[in-house]
Amino acid sequence: MQSVAVIGSGISGIAAAHTLNDNNYAVTIFDQGKNPGGRLGLRTLRNHPYANRVIDVGAAYFTVSHPIFEKKLDEWTKNNLVHEWTDTFHIFKDFEITTTTGPMRYAAKKGLRSLAFYELDVLKQKGVKVIQEKKVEKVKIENNKIKVDDQFFDYVVFAMPGPQAARILEDEVSKELANQNWDSALSAWLVIDGEIPKYDAMFVNEHEVISLIVNDGKRRKDNAPIINAITTSSYAKQRLENYQDYVDEVVDHVLELWNIRSEVVEKGIARWSIAQPKNCTRVSLPKNMALVGDAYDLNPRIESAWLDGVAVLKQLIGVD
Ligand SMILES: Cc1cc2nc3c(=O)[nH]c(=O)nc-3n(C[C@H](O)[C@H](O)[C@H](O)COP(=O)(O)OP(=O)(O)OC[C@H]3O[C@@H](n4cnc5c(N)ncnc54)[C@H](O)[C@@H]3O)c2cc1C
Repeated sequence: MQSVAVIGSGISGIAAAHTLNDNNYAVTIFDQGKNPGGRLGLRTLRNHPYANRVIDVGAAYFTVSHPIFEKKLDEWTKNNLVHEWTDTFHIFKDFEITTTTGPMRYAAKKGLRSLAFYELDVLKQKGVKVIQEKKVEKVKIENNKIKVDDQFFDYVVFAMPGPQAARILEDEVSKELANQNWDSALSAWLVIDGEIPKYDAMFVNEHEVISLIVNDGKRRKDNAPIINAITTSSYAKQRLENYQDYVDEVVDHVLELWNIRSEVVEKGIARWSIAQPKNCTRVSLPKNMALVGDAYDLNPRIESAWLDGVAVLKQLIGVD
């Protein structure tokens, strides 16, 4: 059996691990995080009455268009992990509020990261080795094998943004990977002692600070007065180092945009220095290496990360 290291237990690494396992490769997944899921970010609230309730602070929802991902949606739905949220968002632009209807947005009952936990359980049952809290420091070719830190593999899959792969790959192409263009984001959350507007979510256009506000109570379907807001990339990029100092400023903008006067009883902020790819191209890696993720699609998102992972064999051995 040939061995593969999949570095990254985000949605693309999970999909790649499934394909490789189904095709009789011996798969080991490594991830530096305590938890799997990567940008399926989650935080847990601390204060009564919402102590231990989780909130999505990375990806806000997912959409489905391809039959392969539709099959995955069916499985997650059957296992009671996901539900339909909404197809209608509000838009704030020039002090006017309108609505826009698009594809159905799906949310997860226990947060999107629960999908990664579920998938890793399935993979482990199928014999895949999963090693969390293991930051890979170096990948290099030695004696025609691929050395991932101190272990040898036949193949390696970088299931992560290019700039993260650049940090560990000892090869000329790492310069090209490092040059990929990625947006950043700050993601704030707040709990209100009172009612919040009935919007599901609002795209905020042409605003200096906020790009999206989500009613997490509606997303989670428990109607808790909890909000998540994602900032613009330009706002985030200038504040990545001391991002925690900006929680009040971001929260104040949310309160103003949604005209909320109730007291904020809990708040917090997370940082995504590498959040969303911007016109990235896939670089050609040395033999027996693949790079998968959301970056290689016109519409980067959870679905494209999944589909790119599923197609990993095309890069590794040229087979669809
Ligand atoms: C704020 C925000 C909002 C978003 N909103 C949406 C949305 O609403 N809808 C949507 O569809 N998508 C959204 N996305 C995008 C979505 O989250 C991504 O498309 C998807 O999660 C990418 O998955 P991935 O597996 O390609 O990468 P990632 O999730 O980034 O996974 C990469 C993994 O690699 C690991 N890793 C990196 N380096 C190493 C190393 N050296 N050693 C070990 N492990 C390593 C990381 O820990 C991580 O777990 C959003 C993203 C962000 C940040």
